[in-house]
Amino acid sequence: MGELQKDVRVVVGHSLPYFTFGVIADIQYADKPDGLSGWRTMRYYQESCSHLCRAIQEWNMEDTRPRFVLQLGDIIDGFNKRGNKSEDSLAKVLAITRTALMPFHHVWGNHELYNFSREYLMKSRLNTTWMEDRRQDKGTSSTEDYYAYHFSPHTNFRFIVVDTYDLSVLGRNRTNDKHLMSEAFLMNGTGYHMMTYNGGLGQEQLAWLNDVLTYSDKSGEKVVIAGKCLIMEEVSREVSITHWCSIFFVGHIPVHPKAKRSPCLVWNYQEVLRVLQAHHSVVCYLAGHDHSGGYHQDSYGIHHVTMEGVIESPLGSNAFGTIYAYEEGLFLRGGGRVRDRYLPYRKVDTT
Ligand SMILES: [Zn+2]
Repeated sequence: MGELQKDVRVVVGHSLPYFTFGVIADIQYADKPDGLSGWRTMRYYQESCSHLCRAIQEWNMEDTRPRFVLQLGDIIDGFNKRGNKSEDSLAKVLAITRTALMPFHHVWGNHELYNFSREYLMKSRLNTTWMEDRRQDKGTSSTEDYYAYHFSPHTNFRFIVVDTYDLSVLGRNRTNDKHLMSEAFLMNGTGYHMMTYNGGLGQEQLAWLNDVLTYSDKSGEKVVIAGKCLIMEEVSREVSITHWCSIFFVGHIPVHPKAKRSPCLVWNYQEVLRVLQAHHSVVCYLAGHDHSGGYHQDSYGIHHVTMEGVIESPLGSNAFGTIYAYEEGLFLRGGGRVRDRYLPYRKVDTT
C-alpha cells in the first residue's frame, strides 16, 4: 500500500464509498503489429484488447462493484477504416465490454470519427444516451446536433458526458453547415492546439451545459451537507463548509492546458473553462486523448484528470482506473500506468 493510500484512509476513515465507477481511455484497437506512432511513441495494438479484458476482470471482482464504466473515447483505431474493418473491430471490442457486470458509458473521440460518420455513431451501440437521466425537466440534450447527456448515479452526484467534437472537421459531410462553420473556426483560430484531431463545443452545447449546471447548483442547495467535513477541525472561526452537488465532466479532449503534455486541447477551451468555473458544483473533468496522461487542479479547485491511454501500455502494464466517491472526496485507484490520486471536493465557504 502506497503512502497516498494511507493518507486516503485517514481522510475517509473506514467508511464505505457512496459508489464507485471505472474509467478507461484510448483502447484504440486495430489488428496490426505494434509500432511507432507519428509522435514517435510506441503503440501496442496487439495488447489493447487483453488490457481491456484485464481491466474488466478487476472491476468485476471489486468488493464494491463499480456502477458503470466511462470509456473516454478512441475505442478503435482509425487504421481500421483502411482495411474496411471498422465494424468488425468495433464488434470485437464491444463483445469484450459485454463481459463486464456493469454498463459502459461511451464518449466519442477523433478515432470514432475516422471510422464512422456521426449518423452511424448515433445509431450504434456507442450511443449511450439511453442511460440519460430523463427525470430532470431541465437540460435534456438535443442529440440531433451533438452527443451529450447527463446522469445521476447517486443523490448529489451528476455526470455530464460532453461532445468535444461538436465543432469538428471529422464525421460530417463536407457540405454540412456545421462542418463549414468548424472549418472556418479552425482556419481562423490561433494556437498549436488548432489541429484537425482536436475539436470544440458549439454555442448550443455550451448553453445546454450552463443550464444543467445552473440546475445542479440550485438543487445542491437543498441537499447541502454542512459542517461534516474534516476541515472543520482545522478552522478556528465558525464556518460552514458546504459540499454542493458534485458534477463530473467527461469528454475525450482535455480542456485545461496544464492537464496534458501534447497539443491535445479543446479548440475553444477558454470558453468551456469559463462555463465550468462559473459553477461551484463542478468537481472534476475526466479526459483521454493525450496518451501520456496528465493532471492539474485549477485555481477554482476543479481536478482535471487526463487518463493514460491503453494503446501505449506495453505487455505487463495497463491503463485504467477505479474511482471511489467518498463523503469528502474521490479516490482514483490507478491500474498499470495510471497513478493513485486523492481528489478532494471543492469546499464552498458560505460565511
Ligand atoms: Zn483521441
